[in-house]
Amino acid sequence: MFCLKLNIKTMKQTLYILSLLLFFGCKTEKKASEIIKQNEFAIIIHGGAGTILKKNLTPEKEAAYKAKLEEAIRIGHTILKNGGTSGDAVVKTIQVMEESPLFNAGKGAVFTNDETNELDASFMDGKTLNAGAVAGVKDIKSPIEAARTVMTDSEHVMLSGKGASIFAKEKGLEIVDPSYFYTERRFKSLQRIKDKEKTELDHDEDKKVAFYDADIKNAKFGTVGCVALDKNGNISAGTSTGGMTNKRWGRIGDSPIIGSGTYANNLTCGVSSTGWGEYFIRAQVAYDISAQMEYQHKSLKEATKDVIQNKLTKLGGTGGVVALDKNGNMSFEFNTAGMYRASMNDKGTLIVKIYKD
Ligand code: ASP
Repeated sequence: MFCLKLNIKTMKQTLYILSLLLFFGCKTEKKASEIIKQNEFAIIIHGGAGTILKKNLTPEKEAAYKAKLEEAIRIGHTILKNGGTSGDAVVKTIQVMEESPLFNAGKGAVFTNDETNELDASFMDGKTLNAGAVAGVKDIKSPIEAARTVMTDSEHVMLSGKGASIFAKEKGLEIVDPSYFYTERRFKSLQRIKDKEKTELDHDEDKKVAFYDADIKNAKFGTVGCVALDKNGNISAGTSTGGMTNKRWGRIGDSPIIGSGTYANNLTCGVSSTGWGEYFIRAQVAYDISAQMEYQHKSLKEATKDVIQNKLTKLGGTGGVVALDKNGNMSFEFNTAGMYRASMNDKGTLIVKIYKD
């Protein structure tokens, strides 16, 4: 009798557990089917925004930029396709552009007023919201790698100048002679700006600042950046730059600043910025895009458009962003004449563009 009672009780319990499993199982299945995945993995890059006009680029130069953008993005795309992490895709893709003299990052970085090259970079992991950055470094071959290493191998987020170099050396990263970053083209740009400044100074002291600003405004900025989504749904973003030509007093722009130059959050999106850094810092461009998606439930397109075309433009800032959301939607947004840019989705569709559509 006791035995029968026990069996009925066990049967009832089993039935209860089974119905619970069935209920939650259906719920999970329903939820999964509600998620519309645009792309299982995706990657988007920029090589800087600015007054990039077709009439100023020879067909050879244009082809060289497009080829380098394609080479860079294909490296990251292959990593993602093979199941690699978005972090690896971002670093390896940016390194191709850092090593090219075409872009204002790594080799090819612009010159400071002191005729040196001072590099900035940042990296963010959208899964953990962990981040790393370096600012004002003069001898680290790959600033983006250093930025990621600050994130993985230190308890800090941003290291600067000499200290950052010591850290990089200790972690076994490649250190180069500062002359590695020299390119004649960038050196000549600095001389042109200095000459203009001097002419203005000789004639009208008051106009000096305006002339300096106008020149910077019209410069091709050339920072590089990348955002990637991997097959595990993790987003990473990174940005690397030489800053702005003729910068002085240890000026640091937005590129190494998390929330301005770079941001990534698996719940919303990843962003890399390029443009006039002072405005990007004040507008908190990268974080604002993520925040608009998180709190106002805007789409990636709506958020990037509002931040660049409305908020940044109203402040007087120029530049753009590349961004990608958790579902693999991608967005290019800029208020300048052009932006070197490329994207690739999980089907392998490649877009490489320079000018406005
Ligand atoms: N944002 C960079 C800076 O202000 C420049 C650039 O994007 O080219 O340092």
